[in-house]
This record gives sequence, C-alpha cells and structure tokens, in this order.
Amino acid sequence: MEHSLLQPPKRLLMGPGPSPVEPRVYQALAKPIVGHLDPYFFEVAGDIRRLLQPVFGTANEYTLAISGTGTAGMETAVSNFVEAGMTAAVFSNGYFCERIAEMIRRQGASLKRLAKPWGEAFSDGEARDFIAAEKPHVVAFVHGETSTGVLQNGKAICEAAHQAGALVIADVVTSLGNVPVNVDETGIDIAYSCSQKGLACPPGLAPLTVSPRALEALRARKSSNRSFYLDLTLLNDYLSGRRYHHTAPISMCYALREALSIIEEEGLENRFRRIHTNHRAFVAGIEAMGLSMLVPEALRLRPLNTPCVPAGIDDAKVRQRLLNERGIEILGGFGPLAGKVFRIGIMGAGSTEENVLLLLDALDDALRKEGWRPRADARGAAEAFYGKAAQAAVNG
Ligand SMILES: *Cc1c(COP(=O)(O)O)cnc(C)c1O
Repeated sequence: MEHSLLQPPKRLLMGPGPSPVEPRVYQALAKPIVGHLDPYFFEVAGDIRRLLQPVFGTANEYTLAISGTGTAGMETAVSNFVEAGMTAAVFSNGYFCERIAEMIRRQGASLKRLAKPWGEAFSDGEARDFIAAEKPHVVAFVHGETSTGVLQNGKAICEAAHQAGALVIADVVTSLGNVPVNVDETGIDIAYSCSQKGLACPPGLAPLTVSPRALEALRARKSSNRSFYLDLTLLNDYLSGRRYHHTAPISMCYALREALSIIEEEGLENRFRRIHTNHRAFVAGIEAMGLSMLVPEALRLRPLNTPCVPAGIDDAKVRQRLLNERGIEILGGFGPLAGKVFRIGIMGAGSTEENVLLLLDALDDALRKEGWRPRADARGAAEAFYGKAAQAAVNG
C-alpha cells in the first residue's frame, strides 16, 4: 500500500478568515497533550483567561474559550441568554446578524428586527428608538460585520438596552484582536469571537466573556439550557470546579495560549496601529487604481476591506487568478453583495506592509488580465503612504 504524505498547498490567506498562522502557533499545536483534567490544562485555561481579558477590554472573571468555532460562540451566547417567552431585538445589516436572528427564532423567543441595507450602520438615534419601542429582554448586534466590512459602534445600543433593563450580546468575531473592542467601557454583557481571525490561530475555539450582570440573569433562568454542550453553568463547573463536562481540545488551547502571548508581546496598541496603518495603505492603493470602497471611511471595519468590483468584471475570475497564479486567497461578496465587492482580510498576523504590496500587485495584474485598466499605480500609492506614515512616526 502506498502512503502519501499530507501536503497542503502554500496559501496567503487574505480573505475574511482564517487568517495566517505564525510558526510559533503551529509549534504549540505539536506539543504533547495532557489530560483535560490535568492541573497543567487548568493552568493553560487560566492563562487563556488572563490573556483574553485585555484583548476583550474587560475585567470579567467569566472569560473563557468555548470548544468550537465562532458559530459555537454565537450559539452559546444565544442559548444561555435567550429563552422561550422572551423578546430579543437584533440590529440587522448583514449576514451574521441574520444568523443570530435565526438562532433566536430557534430558541422560541419573540424576535424583533431592525433592518438596514447591507453596507450601512445604525445611528445612535435609530438604536435608541428601536430599543425604546420594543422593550426587549436581550439586544444583539454585530460589531464587525464580515459580510459587508462595516463596524457598528455599540455605545448607544448598550446605553439604551441597559435603560430598558436588557442584556447586550455583541458579535466581536472579526473585531477581536484587530481593533479595540472595549467590552466594559461600551457596556457589552456577552461578547464572543473565534480563534482564526484577529487572533491569528487555526479555527476551533470561540473566546467568550460574560459580565457579572449577565451571570445574575443566567442564575435566574427559569428553564435549563436545551444545549448541554454549550451550557455556561456546566462549563464554568468544568473550568473552575474541575469536574468533567467534555474533553476540551487540548492542542487548540495550547495554540490559542501561544497566539495570545504573541499579542501580549506585541502590545495591543501597537497591534491596532499596525492593522490601521496597513488598512489605510491598502485603501490608498485601491483608490489610486480607481476602485471605490463600499463602506464610507468612518464606518469601515479596518481588518476586512470591501472594495467594489469594477463594472463589467467577473469577481470570481479575478479571485481565481489570485489563487491559481499567486496562491492568494480573497473572497467575494454574497447575498445582496454577490458579484459587487471583494472581501479582503488584512488582519491579525497577515496585516503587514509586504502582504499589502503583494496583494495590490496581484490585484492590479489580475484586473488587467480581465481587461480592466487601473487608473494609476496602486503599489506606488501605497508605498507613498508608508513613506508618509514612517515620517509621521519619526516626527512623533
Ligand atoms: C466568521 C464569523 C462568524 C462565524 O464564525 P465561524 O468560526 O465561521 O463559525 C460569526 N460572526 C462573524 C461576524 C464572523 O465573521
């Protein structure tokens, strides 16, 4: 019998996630595992809690990583805090908001939606009016909407929700580790994310944090969570009381611990500045080419860029060229944005000057081959931007 070696192709991951993984994190995955009740495992879980808190911007003691991807984080938030008989309000302006809405429906709660076209955000006034009118028990919004590239400010939503006595669930899947999330300052009660976007780890864990206020509501729940696996009360017993609940994916916990150490070493401010600078350089290149961004500057989710596909160009062909000719993965829009935008991730460890320039070159080339003529030199515009950014740093 012939045994062939597993040999995945080399890809530069510049889509909405997963994002590139650093060698140190791959090395952590190769370390020997211990048991899921071993004191060393609880040490790692404690490190993950301590390292996640500043990234979330929280002092919440209840901060952990759920076994599963971002969707498991979402389902943990919804299934623990939304029950039949409750009213839950969702701000809906993209795909992932609709996924939360579907989970709320499945819990048998009454769903109220405030909808806007994909690519727009909700104003403070809209947020306040909606919550005051619906008087929900729970409010949910997506901080970084990966289907559109919009960042939704949560401050007014949280203030209005708390005035109405509601808890706030925030999806910070794409924002965590890429931009400030500020859970405590914003007033978010439950926030969840994933390991494979801003944290630059493989997919498989969903960091989650719960406020003391939300824990009180959890204790006051009338029925027990219908999901055994995602029951936060049982999970807390496991991670603090050291009682078996499920077998945590030990290797992934090592990887997340390492990825979070890298973030701590870089420093959050440095990391956010790096991601911001590379986002701006990329936009400078894109606009020099003659493409426009879907989202107005003030609302842009920096790690996830959505330039519009030029008229007459098939985005799938461009993406295919990037993948086949350069090994670069980017994705396209879907739903109402199908064929209209590219979705380009410049996030986590993948947010570097080298990657921005590489991608602009590759996009320029692929668009030309598809018959489109860029207006000016994208790479040159980005390089000029970097020159200016370096000069600004020198001048302080
Ligand atoms: C990626 C993503 C999810 C889902 O995460 P998975 O890891 O794919 O399960 C949820 N919400 C947002 C905003 C995302 O970008």
